Amino acid sequence: MTDIYNFSAGPAVLPAAVLRRAQDELLDWHGSGMSVMEMSHRGKEFVSIAEQAEADFRELLEISPDYHVLFLQGGATSQFAMVPMNLLPGKQQADYINTGAWSKKAIAEARRYCTVNVAATSEASGFTTIPAADDWQLDPASAYVHYTPNETIGGVEFSWIPETGDVPLVADMSSTILSRPLDVSRFGVIYAGAQKNIGPAGLTVVIVRKDLAGTTLEGTPTMYDYQAHADNGSMLNTPPTYSWYLAGLVFQWLREQGGLAALAEINQRKAAALYAAIDDSDFYKSPVDRVYRSWMNVPFTLADDALDGDFLEQAASAGLLNLKGHRSVGGMRASIYNAMPEAGVNALVDFMQEFERTRG
Ligand SMILES: *Cc1c(COP(=O)(O)O)cnc(C)c1O
Repeated sequence: MTDIYNFSAGPAVLPAAVLRRAQDELLDWHGSGMSVMEMSHRGKEFVSIAEQAEADFRELLEISPDYHVLFLQGGATSQFAMVPMNLLPGKQQADYINTGAWSKKAIAEARRYCTVNVAATSEASGFTTIPAADDWQLDPASAYVHYTPNETIGGVEFSWIPETGDVPLVADMSSTILSRPLDVSRFGVIYAGAQKNIGPAGLTVVIVRKDLAGTTLEGTPTMYDYQAHADNGSMLNTPPTYSWYLAGLVFQWLREQGGLAALAEINQRKAAALYAAIDDSDFYKSPVDRVYRSWMNVPFTLADDALDGDFLEQAASAGLLNLKGHRSVGGMRASIYNAMPEAGVNALVDFMQEFERTRG
């Protein structure tokens, strides 16, 4: 049987070892006689699962006690509203950096609540680069600065953390969190939908500096209040228990791999191999500025887009799935998150070389 490698941008591949463990534990978690799906979120079994997941996550990212870690629902998209609702009180404006499709959505949502100062944009480049920090028009009167460290669709990724002085920095890390070590202390808020690099869909992880929670805009629903979730251990209502459990298994798996420094080395190697295959050929092209190429999402085009359909079909027959680029960009996109093994990237590179040899 051909090995299957799933390059989906999200929901995305999970570590095979994690899925096997979930399978072993599916009907009877640790002798409890229950599936995790069937447990009360307030029972001692699930509370132990939830606490272990948070402890492992904090350990992986070395998160200090100055931060809440919240396990919420609503996706990263809900955070586009939750961030302004919680960080704006007392201010009228927020700074946003526009580097692509996900930045734009965050900006559009924030405009419902405040004046958005787009302090920098790479739109003129077709979102293939990151605007130079020297040109940013940050406003010290803004409540926060929001950016998207990795644009999942465009495949551009910051190689540095912006310096914003006393203004809190907010990051949508949905597609890059846990891909390498991170200095969390540089941030006010970090959020990520789980379905790229954490676990299954339905869970959203939010890291909030404690002093930034506590006040909300008038009329904010309780479910959109960071402090209310923090006060209730992310169990203000029934949390997405099974996704939380699976995320916990992924955190344990990451620790077993040697933690984020070890993952970073592997991720860098995987990305380097794929970009080399693209750059070493006249048939494949990456549209993205070399300095800002994503380690996680690698868009590329074929010299002749009439061959796109054949490429995708033959790739799928070879076990390489979900390589079609986002509908807004076209071409191909390979998402190579933590759970994509190096063997998967090597199989893709071999396939690309063979396709070019026979069809290029
Ligand atoms: C996928 C994605 C989102 C949207 O996440 P949902 O969980 O579907 O709301 C937002 N931002 C980025 C960077 C993403 O990759």
